[in-house]
Amino acid sequence: MVRKTFVMLCLLSGITSMMAQGQQQQRWDPKSTEWHYPVPPKVKPGKVPGAPPSDAIILFDGKDLSQWESADRENPGPAEWKVQNGELIVVPGKGTIKTKEFFGDCQLHIEFKSPSPGPHNGQDRGNSGIMLQSRYEIQVLDGDNNPTYVNGMVGSVYKQKAPEVNAYTINGEWQVYDIYWRGPRFTTGGELKEPAMVSVVLNGILIQNNYVLNGSTPYIGLPNYTPHGRMPLTLQDHGTEVAFRNIWIRNL
Ligand code: MG
Repeated sequence: MVRKTFVMLCLLSGITSMMAQGQQQQRWDPKSTEWHYPVPPKVKPGKVPGAPPSDAIILFDGKDLSQWESADRENPGPAEWKVQNGELIVVPGKGTIKTKEFFGDCQLHIEFKSPSPGPHNGQDRGNSGIMLQSRYEIQVLDGDNNPTYVNGMVGSVYKQKAPEVNAYTINGEWQVYDIYWRGPRFTTGGELKEPAMVSVVLNGILIQNNYVLNGSTPYIGLPNYTPHGRMPLTLQDHGTEVAFRNIWIRNL
């Protein structure tokens, strides 16, 4: 009996508060929940899907490597990858390359094509990588009937998170990545305040959905965070002639 009365009282108080809220909302001027500033800047989209919008920084438009340099500390200088037929092609042994400009939160568009597989399989077939802020790798790999560890397959956050699905098409076709990156935040004392987060779309399909990173993406060992600010975007030389094109980035 006591419990029944209690439930009735709760229900009644719920209904009364909903009615009060409704009455209050009716008294509101609708304009009081509308705002007019700041007005978002106008950005002109690209002419076709995948083309750079007006506020993008073009990192490679098929012509030259002017936005890039060698990421090899022992051998600094110009990036020594090949530009041919509008493509930027890894030259194995010439090392990873990095942008001259530093980036933090960003939207990145980048297209890649795996080389002919030859006798190679797994991690040796079309391996490269897109390293956000120089240390968080979104894997580039041939995903056409190429089994490997799933947290190292195409679309993985390397050795942390397999993609939700394999959206790679077939070897020899261009694959289109759109990456939405929120970098980690650190306190002024260098403690991690907020981890990094990434969403990745491959060929129009969402394959990483707001994944929260455990840290960097090393080949050996566990992910870890060390404090940093804006860093170059790097593309990995992993010994295979992966081609890239149409690379642009928007600062967020
Ligand atoms: Mg790689």
